[in-house]
Amino acid sequence: MKTYKLLLLPGDGIGPEVMGEVGRVVAWVNSTGLAAIETETDLVGGCAYDAHGEAISEAAMRLALAADAVMLGAVGGPKWDGVAYDQRPEAGLLRLRKDLELFANLRPAICYPALADASSLKRDRVDGLDIMIVRELTGGVYFGKPKEIIELPAGQKRAIDTQVYDTYEIERIATVAFDLARERRRLVHSADKRNVMKTGVLWNEVVSRVHKERYGDVTLHHILADNCAMQLVRAPKQFDVIVTDNLFGDMLSDEAAMLTGSLGMLPSASLGAADATGRRPALYEPVHGSAPDIAGKGIANPIASIASFAMCLRYSFYLGDAADRIDGAIASVLGQGLRTADIAQDGCRTVGTREMGEAIVAALNPA
Ligand code: NAD
Repeated sequence: MKTYKLLLLPGDGIGPEVMGEVGRVVAWVNSTGLAAIETETDLVGGCAYDAHGEAISEAAMRLALAADAVMLGAVGGPKWDGVAYDQRPEAGLLRLRKDLELFANLRPAICYPALADASSLKRDRVDGLDIMIVRELTGGVYFGKPKEIIELPAGQKRAIDTQVYDTYEIERIATVAFDLARERRRLVHSADKRNVMKTGVLWNEVVSRVHKERYGDVTLHHILADNCAMQLVRAPKQFDVIVTDNLFGDMLSDEAAMLTGSLGMLPSASLGAADATGRRPALYEPVHGSAPDIAGKGIANPIASIASFAMCLRYSFYLGDAADRIDGAIASVLGQGLRTADIAQDGCRTVGTREMGEAIVAALNPA
């Protein structure tokens, strides 16, 4: 039986509440004998600032670098609004992304049949939806230099952001997307703006080359990013994996995610480069923030965090069957009519964070 080291960083607000339910699911995995997951817990975000004066301590960073995967809850809250920019809670998250070199952001958009009526689209468009957006996370226009606002004569100013991509950055994100597609329906859409952007031309060229050289068994379509945005609301089920740059990915992943309903349901993974043994740095976290408005009330939806842990099992611990069982247990509990307040529905029973976590574990251990 393989042993994995998982670092838990619950963070602020509802982070510790939802992470408590992840702990329950970790215990279930250990009870199955499929793997031994050893957890350690540390601080990140505002709570780390309160304890150490920085959003993540060096000791916590060492644990993160040594772990097989990191699970994060959420960071931030009004309590730390006045904290200096470099020490604000989000700095902990940014440091993790930077030091672990997490260049690939994976955001699945899955529509559970029981929640299909909660989507802003008609049921037949989203029922059974299962797409994965792969966003390049460490390059492109958010990081390119120059990035500045300069003074011009006559009181004018000029703002400059620079969109830059090198071949290797496109190659490695394309590889992640094609590898994922092989585990799914073997279909990749690569979204760019090659009609108006040089980075789009290179993006297109490199993705095509990687496909031709190594992934003949996967179907590749190129799509303009604006058309992709339109197709996502017109006929989202035509997609399997969408790979795109940092800027377009930021928008397309939010758009795709909201096809399926509440923020409390959305998991994510951020991955770095795999070494020769297949081990890669990875951070798993719900898409939502620390939800200060409901923190401490025991009503937060833990499903985004539990589904993030299922992604961890799938992509870091190679326990796809256990991940499938967790996803199945979530679908089953929703099918039984259990809802947290954020996804409350007429005719369903509204439960708290803990009861939802317990119900998912009960569905994993059928009597
Ligand atoms: P948020 O995601 O925390 O909350 C937005 C709304 O969704 C709130 O009404 C909240 O109650 C609800 N919500 C979020 N998660 C939920 C869940 N699991 N169950 C039920 N309801 C849920 O976003 P915000 O209010 O804009 O930000 C609050 C704080 O979180 C800020 O300090 C922000 O900087 C931080 N934040 C952190 C992250 C992160 O840690 N990755 C992401 C986004 C925001």
